[in-house]
Amino acid sequence: MERRKFLKKASVSGLALAIVPAIASCVTEGEKENKVTATSKTIVPVVVATWRFHNATKAAWEVLEKGGESIDAIVAGCRTEEADLKNTTVGNGGAPDRDGNVTLDACIMNKNGGYGAVVCMENIAHPISVARKVMEETPHVMLAGKGAEQFAVEQGFKRENLLTEASKKAWEKWKVKSEYKPIINIENHDTIGMLAIDKHGDISGGCTTSGMAYKMAGRVGDSAIIGSGLFIDNKIGGATATGMGEEVLKTVGSYLIVELMRQGRTPQEACEEGVKRIVTSNPNYNNFQVGYVAINKKGEYGCYCIHDGFGISKYQEGKQTYIESGSYIKKA
Ligand code: ASP
Repeated sequence: MERRKFLKKASVSGLALAIVPAIASCVTEGEKENKVTATSKTIVPVVVATWRFHNATKAAWEVLEKGGESIDAIVAGCRTEEADLKNTTVGNGGAPDRDGNVTLDACIMNKNGGYGAVVCMENIAHPISVARKVMEETPHVMLAGKGAEQFAVEQGFKRENLLTEASKKAWEKWKVKSEYKPIINIENHDTIGMLAIDKHGDISGGCTTSGMAYKMAGRVGDSAIIGSGLFIDNKIGGATATGMGEEVLKTVGSYLIVELMRQGRTPQEACEEGVKRIVTSNPNYNNFQVGYVAINKKGEYGCYCIHDGFGISKYQEGKQTYIESGSYIKKA
């Protein structure tokens, strides 16, 4: 995956009413869309994801365009990134914690408000699928660490070593340079958060990550926590987050954004308010990144972040676009 570039701001407005199933053939991967203008009708299905996760939105789109459910699209999309060894921020090949262990966090929410999550799970390459199993096969909503791994194995998932040679080398280099201090900055995170609406208008979401690179052992971020890294209310919409998990957790960011949409804000306005909530509560905001993406029941969407450089991948009407997010701080 291409690491973030500092990009110019773009405004995202939205699409308006009327649910129309859309299937088209033109596919332009990563085509840039600087401005989303309002159209006369909402067009579903649609899938949006944090960052330039074009392969993931494509995989999700393939499920949606065949008439599949949003929950299956989310799993297909997230698994694509989890399997990508070149992506050092999600799943297999993810950067380890400061002790050299790859620990994964993921959660999923469905149209019925169902929620499943795994946190700090090792040795299993597809935490999004394990999270789904937690949601569908257990009376619980979250499993952690060894228990999550054991459950995954019982469900037929294979144990594997998730630390690639490249990630191991980078970690060894980091150890020398950093004196073993966990670092917090704006470059070591690129979680995939994904929101999808299927042709029936039903919304699901997923969020999966290896978390902040070189974090302390046992550290859990926002990504797998309901209301923080992800929240879906099928009557209203959904939101998901990337960036400094500690700040998203403290402001329960994704829940906040969905509640703001419930009160009538557009996804764009709600994302901007979510970011403002963070920057007004932490004067250190210059030193970390947080980005949000949200979608409402009408298919309107928005995104916003603290620093330039965030953007979202969208697949709609058979066409993939990359939308640069507006930001609170503009690069000089
Ligand atoms: N939000 C993630 C975390 O704090 C990091 C990321 O976005 O990659 O674990």
